[in-house]
Amino acid sequence: AIRIENMNKWYGNYHVLRDINLTVRRGERIVIAGPSGSGKSTMIRCINRLEEHQAGRIVVDGIELSSDLKDIDKVRSEVGMVFQHFNLFPHLTILENCTLAPIWVREIPSKDAIDAAMHFLEKVKIPEQAHKYPGQLSGGQQQRVAIARSLCMKPKIMLFDEPTSALDPEMIKEVLDTMIELAEEGMTMLCVTHEMGFAQAVANRVVFMDQGQIVEENNPHDFFTNPQSERTRLFLSQIL
Ligand code: ATP
Ligand code: MG
Repeated sequence: AIRIENMNKWYGNYHVLRDINLTVRRGERIVIAGPSGSGKSTMIRCINRLEEHQAGRIVVDGIELSSDLKDIDKVRSEVGMVFQHFNLFPHLTILENCTLAPIWVREIPSKDAIDAAMHFLEKVKIPEQAHKYPGQLSGGQQQRVAIARSLCMKPKIMLFDEPTSALDPEMIKEVLDTMIELAEEGMTMLCVTHEMGFAQAVANRVVFMDQGQIVEENNPHDFFTNPQSERTRLFLSQIL
């Protein structure tokens, strides 16, 4: 579903991503780990073209991301993204947050959009919050709304960039449980996270990045018990 080949990106002179090669097949769940500044967010953001790459290829669901891309809205609506900060619209209710894009981008009739939104709010276990505003919800609840809002666009792939790292510890679990459920339903997922328990529970592969490169990738068991590179070992010793 996602194919990245020899992808390079610079911020000005700074070579932030170096020869990235990564394929994510349908239904796969990939966890991306690595130290701060290694380029994890930049890579995720290139996949839905919040950032542009300068060399190599990124193909998302058969569409190549390039400068003359006309289908960027199509790519964006098929790729859901959940950030560390929930990015909900503060002046819209939870329900309105969830129906805005389906109604205006996908042109779904509003009754159907509301039904779908309520379905996904039930799935993330907060249908009773539908008529509140984001500021009235806890961080964990807001993040679950952000996930529900993405799901309302019926994405084929979900990207997560440290979705739990701005949350208080007691709220982390409720968001991870939502993500685990999504994984069990077969969603294709690419998650930047430091939650290694999550990685061990749901990932098919863990990809370790350092200094703009993919240093190592492996199944979670071997990644954690038998890291191949010194840099991976050092990283694991710091976070585990
Ligand atoms: P963290 O774990 O802290 O979120 P990360 O692995 O997500 O780190 P990135 O945010 O992708 O790292 O940043 C990679 C490098 O690119 C860093 O050195 C960062 O300072 C730099 N960088 C990120 N965004 C920009 C930007 N818009 N302009 C210039 N440099 C940037
Ligand atoms: Mg980041």
